[in-house]
Amino acid sequence: MSSPIPDAVEVAVIGAGPAGLTAALVLGRQKRTVVLVDSGQPRNAPATEMHMYLGLDGRSPKDLRRTGMEEVAGHPNVEIVHSTVTGIEVTGPDTPVSLATSDGRSFLAERLLVTAGVRDDVSGIPGVAARFGQGVYHCPFCHGHEVDGRRLAVLTDAPENPAQPGLQAVYLATHFSRDVTLLTNGHPVPDEIRETLARNGVGLEHRPVTELGGTDGALTVSVGDEDLTFGAVFHTPREQPRDSVLGLDLETEGAHILVDWQQRTSDPRVFAAGDCARRRDDPVPLAFVARAVAAGQAAGLWIDQDLFRAQAGLG
Ligand SMILES: Cc1cc2nc3c(=O)[nH]c(=O)nc-3n(C[C@H](O)[C@H](O)[C@H](O)COP(=O)(O)OP(=O)(O)OC[C@H]3O[C@@H](n4cnc5c(N)ncnc54)[C@H](O)[C@@H]3O)c2cc1C
Repeated sequence: MSSPIPDAVEVAVIGAGPAGLTAALVLGRQKRTVVLVDSGQPRNAPATEMHMYLGLDGRSPKDLRRTGMEEVAGHPNVEIVHSTVTGIEVTGPDTPVSLATSDGRSFLAERLLVTAGVRDDVSGIPGVAARFGQGVYHCPFCHGHEVDGRRLAVLTDAPENPAQPGLQAVYLATHFSRDVTLLTNGHPVPDEIRETLARNGVGLEHRPVTELGGTDGALTVSVGDEDLTFGAVFHTPREQPRDSVLGLDLETEGAHILVDWQQRTSDPRVFAAGDCARRRDDPVPLAFVARAVAAGQAAGLWIDQDLFRAQAGLG
């Protein structure tokens, strides 16, 4: 049902992942009026375990999300809306940001925080997407320890950086397994990495990969008319921006919205945090739960300070 008069809030947050939930908690505790809109597709949803998060290592990402939602919902000044932001309008410098959701709600917000995460463009090779997060892993920091000692493969599939799969294979060989194969999938191996692969005992399989089957611990990779078996396969998908941020005219780099140390974007009313954001002074984006929590906390704090300064006439 559409609401004729938009609800006015101080802050609208798009996305209730670790970044958005933390920001909403900070803002809720400071008694800001907040709407937190979430479409229920956190990035690590395919994974059953979350690692490297102090106090919750190995727990389900769903546990963190459920607890976070409960803590945020304890603040009556924060409304959690389970819906998708379908339109954002940012007009003149002194006008509120306007937001529309797929269930017909609309909001006017003095500040907008984008914590919409990114979308993983997983390889289209049959069987890969279905096993992403459970047998097919993107990150040796998040999941390397869990596959220690297994026979491992790294799948090359249209990487943005052609040397990246080879470097990942070498990394796995130096940390977790003496039996690592780089599945080049018919892509050329860059010269600068060839010798390093050999020196670290990484095997090469050049035939195109046609299918992935089996389960975590016993995966089959079809190449030609042969099935190779591996305990786990590593594959780094391309990161894509979420549709929700495509309409915003903000300074970006790749899939990321560029922010300053206060998580502020190129538009002073719009902040961004978590995987969708990248600080201008960061040489590479790091996408982890703890980083998202830290950035969400900073965003919540600096948005509150920004509103405080404006409301108190501090300039
Ligand atoms: C398979 C996998 C396993 C991982 N494992 C680990 C791990 O073990 N440890 C670790 O530290 N990191 C891990 N990560 C990385 C981690 O998931 C991210 O760094 C973290 O989720 C980022 O949090 P975020 O809040 O920025 O975004 P997300 O958690 O992706 O949350 C974004 C939210 O925004 C919502 N959203 C998007 N668009 C809209 C819209 N238009 N309207 C409303 N809502 C919207 C989404 O539905 C989602 O709920 C893993 C990633 C993957 C892919």
